[in-house]
Amino acid sequence: MILTITMNPSVDISYPLNKFVINDINRVSEVKKTAGGKGLNVTRGIKYSGIPVLASGIIGGTTGEYIQKQLDKDNINYNFYITQHESRNCIAILHEGNQTEILESGPVLDSYDVSVFLEHYQNLLSQAQVITISGSLPQGFPVDFYTQLIEKANKYQIPVLLDSSGKMLLETLVSKNKPFLIKPNKDELQQIIQMDIDPNDVTSLVKAINHPLLNDIAFIIISLGKNGAFARCHHNYYQVSIPKINVVNPVGSGDVTLSGLAVSIHENETVEVMLKRAMTMGMLNAMESQTGFVNMGNYDKYYQQVKVTKIIAK
Ligand code: ATP
Repeated sequence: MILTITMNPSVDISYPLNKFVINDINRVSEVKKTAGGKGLNVTRGIKYSGIPVLASGIIGGTTGEYIQKQLDKDNINYNFYITQHESRNCIAILHEGNQTEILESGPVLDSYDVSVFLEHYQNLLSQAQVITISGSLPQGFPVDFYTQLIEKANKYQIPVLLDSSGKMLLETLVSKNKPFLIKPNKDELQQIIQMDIDPNDVTSLVKAINHPLLNDIAFIIISLGKNGAFARCHHNYYQVSIPKINVVNPVGSGDVTLSGLAVSIHENETVEVMLKRAMTMGMLNAMESQTGFVNMGNYDKYYQQVKVTKIIAK
């Protein structure tokens, strides 16, 4: 089973409007509400791939209940730590080809919640063969919290796939408790290593992926949007190119890419298959309007078009 961790889930609300008028009333007829948060997109990607998955993290209040109902509808197993604090709403106003977002920061939790969740997580570890950790932390959680989750998983040799950014990612890179895999996009990696990356230049990508901060990470996958990905798996480098596709909504593509990586590691697939699977999942998400949704009927068609080239780095 793959365990997915979403520490700050949300109800994602989308309001499509022909015109968004500031300082006036905007009436919306087609409201869409889904269980959101990066880790829940990962969860759905794994579920679509037919692999057992359990979603965990922290939820609370009526928003938390709504998240559980949505997961029930999708037949997704979950085991959250439930607090008294209301989970957040994230609103996307879709107007005139633009997306204006209003994101609540979510509940403020404290050291009690940290210790209770750590215990909750510890109890789930015996069921997990692979763990994914995605997104931000609730307010009040220490910045090294993911390091603590990784340390516990590493004790049982459960590989952790981490998709985070900024200080939370940096903490894990400087800690002795490393994740097995990270999947930064170009901007997230640039921010960490303080270096510009040219996605079309292999020398620039090799230099970035060999930054000392990344030394002890077994698998590093830099996702590059329409440019595919560049990876270092153990000591080998891989350039992954993808076909041109009809992009409808690329939001969440990175999350669904992570689901492909997790499934492959769970299934002991080769690195080449893993990279092809991950890219295919990302593309399938980008071709749909709904975030974190893929049409698996198109899987084989796009999988065949992903090219993985092993690079001999100079
Ligand atoms: P997000 O934060 O929205 O989840 P991300 O920035 O982490 O995404 P990206 O690098 O944008 O991740 O996308 C992940 C993968 O999804 C890409 O490697 C690619 O396979 C696919 N993808 C994303 N955007 C596009 C696009 N415009 N065209 C083709 N494929 C795309």
